[in-house]
Amino acid sequence: MLYEGVLNKMQTEFNTPIEYYLVFKNNFININQIIDRDIKIDFTGYECLNCGQHKKIFRQGFCYECFYSSAQVGDWIMRPELSKAHLGIEDRDLEYETKVQIQPHIVYLAVASDVKVGVTRKTQVPTRWIDQGASKAIEIVEVPNRYLAGITEVALKDMFTDKTNWRKMLQNEVLETNLEEIRNSLKDKLPDEVKPYFDQTNSAIFNLDYPVLQFPKKITSLNLDKTPSYQGKLKGVKGQYLLFEDGTVFNIRTYEGYMVNIEVI
Ligand SMILES: [Zn+2]
Repeated sequence: MLYEGVLNKMQTEFNTPIEYYLVFKNNFININQIIDRDIKIDFTGYECLNCGQHKKIFRQGFCYECFYSSAQVGDWIMRPELSKAHLGIEDRDLEYETKVQIQPHIVYLAVASDVKVGVTRKTQVPTRWIDQGASKAIEIVEVPNRYLAGITEVALKDMFTDKTNWRKMLQNEVLETNLEEIRNSLKDKLPDEVKPYFDQTNSAIFNLDYPVLQFPKKITSLNLDKTPSYQGKLKGVKGQYLLFEDGTVFNIRTYEGYMVNIEVI
C-alpha cells in the first residue's frame, strides 16, 4: 500500500494503548495497525504548512519567511510568560493571540524520562503529553490565560527540567516518582496571583500507554535530508517518534512540511 503526502505531526486518540494516525490530504494511516510491518519512507520535496509553497522547511513545518512572520510561531509560544494579549498588546496578530492566549491553560508535571514542568492549553490535554511521550502526568494548576501559566512555569522551572531526555524516553527509562506528592509540595511556590487556582484544579494522575512491541537499545535518528530513503520494520510509536527494529527512530515533528511517499510492505 502506497501513501503520499506532507508530514504533519501524528494525530492521536487517548486510548489503551494510544492510537496514532498519520493524516494526509486524501488518506491516512492508522499506525497501530502497521506495527510489525516493513515500511519504506521516501523524501520527495517540501511543502510549507503555512503558505503551501515548495520552499525549504526552516522550522516547525514552516519556510523561513513564514516562520518569522506567522502569528502561529511568535516567541510567546515557546515562552508563555511573554504573552501579552491579556493586556491588549500585540506581538504579530492581536486577534489570533487573544484567541489562543486568553483561554484556560494548564501547568503540569509530566514524566517522560525525568519530571518536567510544562504549559499547555486545556484543549490540548492529554494530546500535549502524548506528543512528549510522557508516561504519567498531573495538572498542577488551571489558570484562565497563557501569561499566568507562563509565570507559574518560570517560578517552578528551577526545581525541574523543562526538557525531555528523548533518548531515555524512547528507551522507556522512566523515573519512578510520586507525582501527587510533588504536586502538593508546590502550592507555596506558586506566584501569589496563581495560588487561588490551585485547590480547584483536577489533580488526578493520567497514565499513558504507548503501542510499542520493542524499545530500541541503541538509537539512531533518521535524518531525511541525509538519508532520503529508509526501510525498516516498525516496532512501535512513542511521543511523535516511529521506532524501528534496527534502532532507527523517526521524529515526525522534525520533518513536518516534508513531502514523503510511505509504502507499507
Ligand atoms: Zn511558507
